[in-house]
Amino acid sequence: AQQFPKLPPTATDAQGHLVYTQFIDGGFTGADGARLATSDPVTGRQWASIARGTAQDVDKAVQAAHRAFTRGAWPAMNASQRGALLRRIGDLVTEHAEWLAHVEQRDNGKLSAELSMQMRYMANYYYYYGGLADKMEGTVIPTDKPGVFNYTVYEPLGVVACITPWNSPLPLASMKIAPALAAGNTVVLKPSEFTSASLLELMKLFQLAGVPDGVVNVVTGLGAEVGAALVDHPLVQRIAFTGGPEAGQRINEQAASRMKRVTLELGGKSPNIVFDDADFEQALKGAVAGIFAASGQTCVAGSRLLLQDGIHDRFLERLVEIAGNARFGHPADPQTQVAPISTAPQLDKIESYVQVALADGARLVAGGKRAHVPECPDGLFFQPTIFADVDNRMRIAQEEVFGPILSVIRFQDEDEAVAIANDVDFGLAAGVWTTSMPRALRMAGKVRAGTVWVNNYRSTSVTSPFGGFKMSGVGRECGIAGMREYMEIKSVWLSM
Ligand code: NAD
Repeated sequence: AQQFPKLPPTATDAQGHLVYTQFIDGGFTGADGARLATSDPVTGRQWASIARGTAQDVDKAVQAAHRAFTRGAWPAMNASQRGALLRRIGDLVTEHAEWLAHVEQRDNGKLSAELSMQMRYMANYYYYYGGLADKMEGTVIPTDKPGVFNYTVYEPLGVVACITPWNSPLPLASMKIAPALAAGNTVVLKPSEFTSASLLELMKLFQLAGVPDGVVNVVTGLGAEVGAALVDHPLVQRIAFTGGPEAGQRINEQAASRMKRVTLELGGKSPNIVFDDADFEQALKGAVAGIFAASGQTCVAGSRLLLQDGIHDRFLERLVEIAGNARFGHPADPQTQVAPISTAPQLDKIESYVQVALADGARLVAGGKRAHVPECPDGLFFQPTIFADVDNRMRIAQEEVFGPILSVIRFQDEDEAVAIANDVDFGLAAGVWTTSMPRALRMAGKVRAGTVWVNNYRSTSVTSPFGGFKMSGVGRECGIAGMREYMEIKSVWLSM
């Protein structure tokens, strides 16, 4: 049996399912209202339930966050003290990483190896923003008025609403909570209805760290109910959202009516571009990890593989071989390469896109079906899938699937690669594989995406700004730019 440092246990119901409540004003509340089942993608069976929150719960949580922002322990803390508190959370996350990863795995079925890396990343958000809390210096600005002094300071906004998806619940929430708190805001978080449990476990660590009541609150439930009520609440100043483009657009429209600030981290259809002169094996690894990591359920998935004519056939042949040999299994087994799809609706969506691609004339060269895995007979598995002869105007090359489906597109030269790469509504990330440094720099300049990886794919760090061009979003997370999103600049004029 796995051993974890002890955390206060969550109650269970008569069937043995864990009963998660909401976390409002420093306490776990609301076990008796309507509930939503949470199921395990490995077994297909329910393992927990969460509260189906209401607009009243949202109001309670926002009021608590507003009170915590305006009076009591939180505004009395200075930036260095907030920093120390965040670093304490980082230590607790590190200490309980295995437990958090275990709960996250039950919710979304991710591989243990990926989860342990993600838990390290998550602790880093608290360490990094804990360090940055007292370093957001303002400026003194020379004026043309004698005896008048002008300076700027960074100030927090107030109550920040964070809304997150199911693919990386803890890291994506922490990417928002850590800078929001470092800046002095308070938070109401709404995790995905499919994966709320790990965030509620994290709140136990926030209690242990001594985060004052009301500074962070978690409301659970459906996007159209709890999410929409949160976006609408007049006391919410900023919305930090990660999720799909449709919900993102709706939230942006709703927020505009009250001039609320938004950070929107939306989807992608990222091009991974391999030139004839690339290091073949390195690019092959990058193409495979680019699309098939986390079964393609990542916003930065390199779902369009652009192969130059001279390398195309040989590269495709190797890809098909690798996709065909992938090992399916339980995500906790270190030998497993392909974990299940996180939710049943997502599996249906992935399957439906195979038909879309075939109807548009793409050629299926690998996968294309649900996979039966004997050790997890009811698991939600899908085969790594590759379409060749894809035209960039086909739906399979334009729409985000969020699954293990790769579209392979042939190109002749650099200009054509740039044109294809940019001919899409999204602009989240891109990969370029070449041994020519001048070409690498030209491509990095010409591809319209928030992140460009040259001869690597998926490198990210809390220190580096991350976000999208075009329909992939608004604003940036991570780095100093990410912290500024949670602050207003105030300009003070002082006559002496
Ligand atoms: P989703 O948009 O369906 O849901 C995301 C969150 O928004 C959930 O908590 C949901 O309950 C809530 N929500 C839905 N409708 C809402 C509304 N009208 N008002 C308020 N809240 C609402 O996305 P998902 O299916 O959970 O996640 C997958 C998507 O997330 C993909 O499109 C993926 O690209 C994107 N994603 C983006 C990034 C990034 O950093 N750019 C990272 C991970 C995932």
